[in-house]
Amino acid sequence: MTSHIDLHSHSTVSDGLLAPADLVRHAAENGVKVLALTDHDDVGGLAEAYEAAQIHGINLINGVEISVTWNRRTLHVIGLKIDPGHEPLSGGLKSIRDSRHVRAQGMADSLARAGISGSLEGAYAHATRGGIISRSHFARWLVEKGYANDVRSVFKRYLVQGKPGYHEHKWADLEDAVNWITGSGGIAVLAHPGRYDLGRTNMLTLLSEFRELGGKAVEVVTGSHTSAQYQEFARLARQFELLASTGSDYHGPGMSYTDIGMFPALPEICTPVWHDWAEAVN
Ligand code: AMP
Ligand code: MN
Ligand code: MN
Ligand code: MN
Repeated sequence: MTSHIDLHSHSTVSDGLLAPADLVRHAAENGVKVLALTDHDDVGGLAEAYEAAQIHGINLINGVEISVTWNRRTLHVIGLKIDPGHEPLSGGLKSIRDSRHVRAQGMADSLARAGISGSLEGAYAHATRGGIISRSHFARWLVEKGYANDVRSVFKRYLVQGKPGYHEHKWADLEDAVNWITGSGGIAVLAHPGRYDLGRTNMLTLLSEFRELGGKAVEVVTGSHTSAQYQEFARLARQFELLASTGSDYHGPGMSYTDIGMFPALPEICTPVWHDWAEAVN
């Protein structure tokens, strides 16, 4: 159940609970050798993570998880081996982060209409690194204030469509996100496809469009997928000649589906996204 390659994780720069250096140390404790830090819409943790990776003997992969709106739905596209200094990428991410501030105000207004005041300041107080502001930060504040017992139950009653705190938002276009990643020399990976409520036909359309735009891989084994979904997306990756990726989607102690590096190997039929990476050989 353990993998020495984990290509999906979050630090305090986005909505994780561990600072980049602490995340890397925890990955090393769990036996991870190749780690991608993939904060939402922000690459601000990569330098600190790289320093820590040198100390702990980890190969750090520069990553990011970009929020995208496709067909009126939110998707996440991971960039691996990106160049964080590539201007179209850094500029694109900056524009998403800016729009998150506007959205946060809208979320706070929506909560205020439901009689819950003070959430904007409260959420920002949880975003300690000044990276992105996200629904996770609002969720932690709602738990702190006793509106729910834990973060998972927050998302049943708040912050989702039709509930207080939801605010419609337009993220990056799929084409732009893939271009920012590939233009920076990176590999675009469709994150956790099993989480999108698309139906079969739309999923096939998405995979074919993603590939057409230059997408290279699909997450097959990831924290939020069931074992049936490992098989389903292994087959789909093969059908669409996409590589397969793997990662915990770790957000910190008690916050995640699985611990960092704690998930099974890719199904045999997959070609791993790291099949030609020098850092993944030993
Ligand atoms: P945002 O990108 O601001 O919409 O925030 C999305 C983040 O909220 C995700 O990356 C997860 O970390 C978290 N999240 C979304 N849905 C849930 C859920 N049902 N339970 C726990 N965390 C969630
Ligand atoms: Mn998250
Ligand atoms: Mn995601
Ligand atoms: Mn993630």
